[in-house]
This record gives sequence, C-alpha cells and structure tokens, in this order.
Amino acid sequence: MHIQDLFKTVVNGGYCIGCGACASLSDSPIEIRFDEDKKLQPYIKQDDTEDNMTVSALLVCPFSGKSKNEDEIGEELYSKIGNKNDKLGYAAATYAGFVKEASFRENGSSGGMGSWIMAELFREGYIDSVIHIHSNTPDENNPKLFQYTISSTLEDIYAGAKSRYYPIELSAVIKEVKERPGRYAFVGLPCFVKSVRLLMMQDPILKERILFCMGLVCGHLKSAHFASMWAWQVGIFPDNLISIDFRTKLKDYGANQYGITAKGLVEGKAITRVSPPLKELFGADWGWGLFKYKACDYCDDVVAETADVTIGDAWLPQYVKDAEGTNVIIIRDERINNILNKAKSQNRIHLDKLTPDQVISSQSSGFAHRREGLSYRLSLLEKASQWYPPKRVQPSDKAVDNKTKRKLDLRIILSEKSHEYFKEALAKKSFDLLKTKLMPFINEYYQLYKTSYVKKIFTRLKKRFL
Ligand SMILES: Cc1cc2nc3c(=O)[nH]c(=O)nc-3n(C[C@H](O)[C@H](O)[C@H](O)COP(=O)(O)OP(=O)(O)OC[C@H]3O[C@@H](n4cnc5c(N)ncnc54)[C@H](O)[C@@H]3O)c2cc1C
Repeated sequence: MHIQDLFKTVVNGGYCIGCGACASLSDSPIEIRFDEDKKLQPYIKQDDTEDNMTVSALLVCPFSGKSKNEDEIGEELYSKIGNKNDKLGYAAATYAGFVKEASFRENGSSGGMGSWIMAELFREGYIDSVIHIHSNTPDENNPKLFQYTISSTLEDIYAGAKSRYYPIELSAVIKEVKERPGRYAFVGLPCFVKSVRLLMMQDPILKERILFCMGLVCGHLKSAHFASMWAWQVGIFPDNLISIDFRTKLKDYGANQYGITAKGLVEGKAITRVSPPLKELFGADWGWGLFKYKACDYCDDVVAETADVTIGDAWLPQYVKDAEGTNVIIIRDERINNILNKAKSQNRIHLDKLTPDQVISSQSSGFAHRREGLSYRLSLLEKASQWYPPKRVQPSDKAVDNKTKRKLDLRIILSEKSHEYFKEALAKKSFDLLKTKLMPFINEYYQLYKTSYVKKIFTRLKKRFL
C-alpha cells in the first residue's frame, strides 16, 4: 500500500489524531510534528525516497478503516468474557472507586486508580515497565510539554499521574520498546490503545512484550493551544509556559470544579499560578469542543473497548460532590479484577459495584456526541460525497431533531474557529480577541440549551399535574 493513500484519505481529510503508529514502523518515511494549530500530525521526512513509501501504515492507523475495528479486536481479545454491551464493549465487571492507600488519589486526576493499577501490576510482578505520559521541559529541539515515556520504577510510575489534555504520540516510545526487552503495560486514549493493538498484530515483538493495555475514557483530545489558553488566563503568556497540571483539585468544590496550575516565566522570573475553578474562566465547557482534533468527532469508542481495563471519572451525582475524585472502572481482564477485589478486602481501595447502565450514564454526553451526534455528522459527509473513516455508527440525518443538529453544527464551528482565532489572538497578543470572536457562536449555542431546559421543566410539570 502506498503511503500517499493514507495522506489522501485520513490526513488530508483531517481524520488523523497524530498517534504516530504509522511513524513507528521500521523504515517509515513519516515523522510526527506540530502543525500550525499545534496539533501533532504526520509529515513525510524531507530526505526520504520512493523506496520506503509502501509501509503498512494503513494497517496500523486507527482511522484508515483498512484494519479491524473495535468490535473485531474486542471479539478476538475478550469474547470469552461474554457480557458485550453496545456502548461499553466487553465488560466483565464495572465499578466506581478510589484509592485509599498512599497518595495515589491526592496525586491523581480522579480517584488515583490509573497510577495505582499500574503500580499494582508492577508490584505483583506482572510487568517491568509502564508506557505512559510524563512532563517534558520544553526547549527548541523538543517544544512539547508532555510525551510518552517508559517508567521502570515505582517512583516513575507515580510521577506519570494526572490527565494530559495535550497532543502526544507514540512513535519514539514504540521504537524503544522494540529495542528494550521486557514486559510492558501501555496506557492510552481509546484510539491510541487501538493503534497499539493494531501494531501488536503486525509485530510479534510488540505482541510478546506489551502484556496489558489500560484505556482512559475519552471526551476528545486537544491541541497544545488548550494549555496555552489556561496559562494565558492566569497571566502566563503561552510562549513562556513551562508546565501545566490540567486537573488541580480544589478543596470545598465538587470533583468537576477543578482548576489548573501553570508554571511559567513572568518578567524573567519563574512563577506558579493556581486558577480558580475553571468554570469561572473562559473555555471550560467541554461541549464547545475548543481546540479539538477533528478526528475526535469521527470516533465511536468512548471507553477504550480494546483495553484490558478502562478508567474514567465517575460523573454521577453520588460521587461528583467529593472533590477528591472517584473513578469509573470497566474490567476486561480477570487478573486485574482479582487485584482490585483483593485490595478492597484489605481496605486499601474503595470499590462499589456499578451496573453497565450507570457507567454509561456517567458518560452520557460523550455517548450522545459519538452515537446520535456522529450519525448526523456522517450524514453530512455522505451528502457531500466526501470520504470518511468507516464507523460502526451508520449515517442518518434522522438521528437527532433539528435543534440538536444546530447544536452539533455549532460545536463543529466552535472547534474549527477556536484553532483559527487563537492564532490571531496570539499574533495580536490579545486574549479578548478569541473571546469576542467566539462569543456569537457561544451565545447561540447556549440559547438552544436554554430553551430545551425550559421545555424540559415544562414537560416535567405537565407530567406531574396531568
Ligand atoms: C484527553 C483526555 C480526555 C478525557 N476525557 C474523559 C471523559 O470524557 N470522561 C472521563 O470520565 N474521563 C476522561 N478522561 C480520563 C480522566 O481525565 C482521568 O485521566 C482518569 O479518570 C484517570 O484518573 P486517575 O486519577 O485514576 O489516574 P491518574 O492516577 O492520574 O493516572 C493517569 C494515567 O493516565 C496517563 N495519561 C494521562 N494523560 C494521558 C494521555 N493523554 N494519553 C495517555 N495516557 C495518559 C498518565 O500517565 C497516568 O498513567 C480523559 C483523559 C484525557 C487525557
């Protein structure tokens, strides 16, 4: 397969998430770099020759449609479990919980289960290393704030905690795994876990070495300008940002009322600033989709269906009040289930059984956007006779009502315009420019929600009195 086929469809169509699976293949002519919107994207290396242009990149690309989809991969890995759910994939058990021991919960974004499960697999001797995300101090050669890194000690596993709403790619780390024998666990967003599963199908060395995959529930991935937006609002100009914690837990607020902590240079001095709850700043509503990769609007895997265990936030009324954070957990591997239940009996973690429906309802917006919403978006592409990545969801312009169609259109507009206007705002050194230019779309978006809220109350009252 010629590499240009990948560029003609996935990359030029805007469906590339920049995961770097294509660039990790031996002799790949592809490298991953920031584009002008600060999304990681693939480029053909300048000095490459036609000889290297037929790598199997399409087979490992999560969006090409030339490889197995999430249902097929899940079937191959987990069909023995049974319990297949339309939205969660296979699910042997579903829980909500948090870590009680040490400072996993305090240091984590949510209940700390992400780092704890990895630490536990390491301590129990199942793995030697974890492939996950660490901070990077940016410089001219490497401007990224975060990157995939291999942790081979407990201290390094702890240091990888927290959610990184930031572009990351796995080409370098996958090459390192191929060179460094060992037993690894991989942590990633749903499309990245799919990429790793596809790479494992192509490469027996990766198949032998990567023993576990842990997925994060995913709303969508952001460009690096998402970090810049927060830094700017706490007084650190984006060029001067050194590091950011996207999920600073704030005492006396709910789990969903977190802030950010940014470190950067102001007048030549390194300073650290903590924000108030993000809801008090501009851009906290994930529904707007600011700085979103377009690829995320064409993904139908919310909960990493190809991962052995998936963790996310328990956005449910009974947990959200607790600022310390609580995870939802979907289990697809018996060994991980045993680890959790043993730790529960030792009072090291808190674990409540949830039904699959409760897990789904903890991510209701994500599922609505990636089921009915996706169906509508695909119907637009179908009408325009444009290529799109094959999906498990079918295109239909009847999936949602007219008002919801407009909301979904506005999300696309907001996401596209945020990339464009942020560049203008940077050039003119004016954050207000971003706000002013996006505001008309945001106002219309909220107007649509307001009326539907009033309608909801009216319907409830009508039901009660009639
Ligand atoms: C882009 C993004 C979108 C998300 N969307 C949702 C959502 O819509 N709903 C929801 O419930 N949860 C979502 N999450 C997951 C959530 O933010 C928490 O990461 C999750 O609940 C784990 O928290 P924890 O305290 O258990 O993990 P921690 O102990 O903080 O550990 C997190 C682990 O994940 C790794 N990690 C962090 N960021 C990334 C990344 N970008 N790629 C790969 N590995 C990473 C870390 O290195 C660490 O190993 C999202 C996460 C990301 C990064």
